[in-house]
Amino acid sequence: MPLRATKIVATLGPASSDPALLEAMIRAGVNVVRLNFSHGKAEDHIERARLVREAAQRAGREVGIMADLQGPKIRVGKFAEGKVMLQAGQPFVLDASRTEPGDDNGVGLDYKELPRDVRPGDTLLLNDGLIVMKVEKVVGPAVHTSVTMGGELSNNKGINKQGGGLTAPALTAKDMDDIKTAMGLKADYVAVSFPKNATDMELARQLCNVAGASTGHKPGLIAKIERAEAIPELASILKVSDGIMVARGDLAVEVGNAAVPALQKHMIKLAREMDKVVITATQMMESMIQNPVPTRAEVSDVANAVLDGTDAVMLSAETAAGKYPLETVKEMANICSEAEKADYHELSADFKGKTFQRIDQSIAMGALLTAHHLGANAIVALTDSGSTALWMSRHNVRMPIYAMTPNLSTQRRMTLYRNVRPLLMDTSADRDTALADAESHLRARGIVKSGDVYAITVGEPMGQPGGTNTLKICRAA
Ligand code: PGA
Ligand code: MN
Repeated sequence: MPLRATKIVATLGPASSDPALLEAMIRAGVNVVRLNFSHGKAEDHIERARLVREAAQRAGREVGIMADLQGPKIRVGKFAEGKVMLQAGQPFVLDASRTEPGDDNGVGLDYKELPRDVRPGDTLLLNDGLIVMKVEKVVGPAVHTSVTMGGELSNNKGINKQGGGLTAPALTAKDMDDIKTAMGLKADYVAVSFPKNATDMELARQLCNVAGASTGHKPGLIAKIERAEAIPELASILKVSDGIMVARGDLAVEVGNAAVPALQKHMIKLAREMDKVVITATQMMESMIQNPVPTRAEVSDVANAVLDGTDAVMLSAETAAGKYPLETVKEMANICSEAEKADYHELSADFKGKTFQRIDQSIAMGALLTAHHLGANAIVALTDSGSTALWMSRHNVRMPIYAMTPNLSTQRRMTLYRNVRPLLMDTSADRDTALADAESHLRARGIVKSGDVYAITVGEPMGQPGGTNTLKICRAA
């Protein structure tokens, strides 16, 4: 398998829950498994997490687990016949007070606040934008619309408002329960759906802190950017999160398809500048749900996300419910490695106009630049919190970054960082022993051979987070 810097997040589902298949998918390149909390109960997630940890162990790879919270359900109710066929031009009423099942004239609402959130003239998009309605008038709990683009509307399909503006809070009571489950199974990342601003993320952080108080477990928090309101708040959301997801599914419905590619580039760039991670998600290999090969457009989409600088590319239904989960992962891994070859990068340009105030960060940047100039084979970071590896990985260099940590949760957290290969290593001995151990690791894996140059960062004394203060350039014995 070619060395690959870009990470792959794969959603677990019925199509990928077989232990042997999951193990094969991990061997083929899955770095992080996403548990979708929109489906299943707490026990199911706990069981799935166990499955992942076991498969990872058999594969001999460390895999991160991301718990993706459902978020607010902005949905229509159910229909008497399970679905209706809507025609362009027809009237249709979305009625929060309706208790009987829906029909050709209208349907009830799971999301009771809709009448309060919309005005005449607003455009509503249902079922991922496949059905479009214009709001004509709002009478008490009833939103009267005319259908502008028809199609089949079935039970509990989602509703988005073009331009954003639905007031549903990001964290529901179910999400609060699910956070406890996620913390119990020691999820390495918790993804928050539909955050509007930094406050939503701060609340999620507090809930994680409370749920993790007894174990001390601290997951990374990912803000799914999928609401129009989140775009102007991007910098403040990033500031209080560990990363973002370019959640193109819902985002496209809210801001319009055409706006998404430019937003993706902007989000990836800003995340990296702010030392945060970024996942590019949704429909990356969509046709592989049904077919054993991707379309040319999908190949380009994945490659372009790599060239945009994303940390990870994500698979949703492709691996959760598709016919070819393993083939999809293999294809994706291949596309990433090929795209990375074309990813020439002027490292010194990253440092223009930048100063680094922190000692550990200056050491990390010094290691990167020095190793780059020397044409080193690898960079090694002996790290407790993973910060040095994170800082280094915000810049594209050809050398792999080996992050060695004594801390299992740090190791798992780093599975998402682009170009970082996280390794677990006991660093409790003295510095010289740790440095010798690090070199043995590299040699045992065939990463360096005698005479090869590598750079290594370390903190003295060892074992203190944020203590990196030393850069050593080594020639392997
Ligand atoms: P979802 O989020 O798959 O949970 O809806 C991703 C997206 O909206 O793109
Ligand atoms: Mn979404």
